[in-house]
Amino acid sequence: MALDRRTQCQAWNTDHDHQVAAGRARAQAFTTVYQAAAGLASFAAFSARMRASHGSPQLFPHEAAKYVAPQDIRCCAGSLPLPLQRIIHAAWAAGNGWGIDHWLGDPDLRLPLGSLFAQGDYGHTWVAWDVGWLVCAACWLAAFCPLCLSDWIDDHVLVRLPQGLCAGHGGRW
Ligand SMILES: [Zn+2]
Ligand SMILES: [Zn+2]
Repeated sequence: MALDRRTQCQAWNTDHDHQVAAGRARAQAFTTVYQAAAGLASFAAFSARMRASHGSPQLFPHEAAKYVAPQDIRCCAGSLPLPLQRIIHAAWAAGNGWGIDHWLGDPDLRLPLGSLFAQGDYGHTWVAWDVGWLVCAACWLAAFCPLCLSDWIDDHVLVRLPQGLCAGHGGRW
C-alpha cells in the first residue's frame, strides 16, 4: 500500500513534470510560430508600403490595401492627386495589384481639352467618383473633368490621365 502510494506519487510527479515541460515546449513553439507570422506580416507591410511609394504593382493587393493608406501611394515622379490615390487603393482592395502605370498614359500623348473621347471612349463604363473625377467601373481607370481641374495642363500627373466632363459640366456621368 505504501509502495503503491509512492509509485503513484512518483508517477504523478513524473506526469506533472512532463506536463510542465510539455506546456513550456508548446508555449515556446507557439511563440516561435507567432513571431515568424508576425515577422512575415511586418515584411509584407514593409514590402507593400515600399511598392506603394514607388507606384509599383502589388503582389498581394488585398494585403496592400490593408497596410497602405491611400495618401501613401505615390509614383517615382512624386505625389498623386488624392482622388487618384483613392481609386488605386480601391482597385487594390478589389484584388487588382496594378501599379501606377495602369493609370498613367504615355506622357507624349497630351490630350487636348475635350478630345479624349474622340480617341478612346471605347468600352469604358465611367461613373462619378470624387468631385471632378470619374472612374471606370470595369477597369478602374481614372479620368478627370478638365473644367473642374482647370490647371491640369501644368500637372505632371493629370496630363497623363484621360479626360471626361463631369455631370455638372454637361457630361453624361
Ligand atoms: Zn475601363
Ligand atoms: Zn467638371
